[in-house]
Amino acid sequence: MIVTKFGGSSVASSEQFKKVKHIIESNPDRQIVISSAVGKKNSEDNKVTDLLYLLFAHIQYSVSFEHLYKVLVEKFVNIKEELGLTYDIEAELEKLYKELKKGISQDYLVSRGEYLTSLLMAEYLGFAFVDAKDVIRFSYNGKLDMEESERAIRQKYAQYGKMVIPGFYGALPDGSVRVMSRGGSDITGSIVAKALDAEVYENWTDVSGILMADPRIIDNPKWIEVITYSELRELSYMGANVLHEDAIFPVKEANIPIMIKNTNAPDDPGTKIVDIVENEPKSQKITGISGKRDFTVFTMYRHNSSNEIGILRKALEVFEKYNVSVEHVPSGIDNFSIVVATSSIERCMYDIASELKQVCQTDSIKITGNISLIAVVGRNMASQCGMSGRVFKTLGDHDINIRMIAQGSDEINIIVGVENEDFKKAIQVIYNEFS
Ligand code: ASP
Repeated sequence: MIVTKFGGSSVASSEQFKKVKHIIESNPDRQIVISSAVGKKNSEDNKVTDLLYLLFAHIQYSVSFEHLYKVLVEKFVNIKEELGLTYDIEAELEKLYKELKKGISQDYLVSRGEYLTSLLMAEYLGFAFVDAKDVIRFSYNGKLDMEESERAIRQKYAQYGKMVIPGFYGALPDGSVRVMSRGGSDITGSIVAKALDAEVYENWTDVSGILMADPRIIDNPKWIEVITYSELRELSYMGANVLHEDAIFPVKEANIPIMIKNTNAPDDPGTKIVDIVENEPKSQKITGISGKRDFTVFTMYRHNSSNEIGILRKALEVFEKYNVSVEHVPSGIDNFSIVVATSSIERCMYDIASELKQVCQTDSIKITGNISLIAVVGRNMASQCGMSGRVFKTLGDHDINIRMIAQGSDEINIIVGVENEDFKKAIQVIYNEFS
């Protein structure tokens, strides 16, 4: 059995609904559909979820919301009429209107995007509609209650077989709706796939898989055929944006592969995400490159700091005090550096510097801004000689100065820091070297 999740652009119009139906009907194993809310039809259009957040802001500030409500009604009624459906979506929208007038929680309101979309999808596919509030359960502390959710999902599957479940929300023990973070339907799909021990979790979107590099930097980058969960974590953390980062954990635990597929090009092979790639020939290839701009490096100079016990802890405590997350800590003998996102220290850079000077008794501190970090990711880099050498040589050959280097201990990534102005060029030359 296959669990499928369709993102907002895959359900943005009646045309897209037809594509979903075709995909579902082309493989009878596709028995479960998790749906996002109606998304953007084109770049000028608005996502239903965004409209709902906006609507809530209107209510909060007592501004008239009728125009927004009208847009919502139009979107759902158009899909219903164009597909010749009979479900009384107008009554659902009318009920929502009354609730809006009475007062409504933000979570409940924004969850209605997935709820209404899934009601229409269920009728269109001839599947049962199962409300996410009955199967995705949270504890009062907001954490997912996996045991309770799994039990409920299995029970509904035994009862209905084929079903459509709205993504993105669930319920607290008192039955009130709670939404996940944005893009959360990916997580719903992963939870359901795990609960039902699916053969595969298919995540249908508007791209034909994960690209080796950002297409805004590399013309026509290659698709990644297979990637491991850990590689994807590394690439996503450094900027590649494909799947909600928390969607990996439930299926990873159950060793269920994820397929990223394109609703608009269903025959494209897509990208397979797995735990371990079996019987793979060792190659000199990398899996992907991603990167982020705008980091700042604080370098503390102190004679023999590498032998001084506790100096790193003292420095890190300063960042902790200012609630700043630390990315990397490269160190030398008479100095060490702390790399952080520039956005996180904008307001406290000088306070941090003066405290660091005090607690670490530094000879001097240097602050370097405008640094970009680039992650070269590849499972095959582990235990292969020469991979980092090639990365550094390539950058050197193209006159790109490397400001810092870091490598995770599992050797699946090499991180280099370069000037912001070299960011694009660095990604381009590394891509050309390894692709
Ligand atoms: N509709 C929600 C959002 O736009 C959740 C999702 O699509 O996954 O964030």
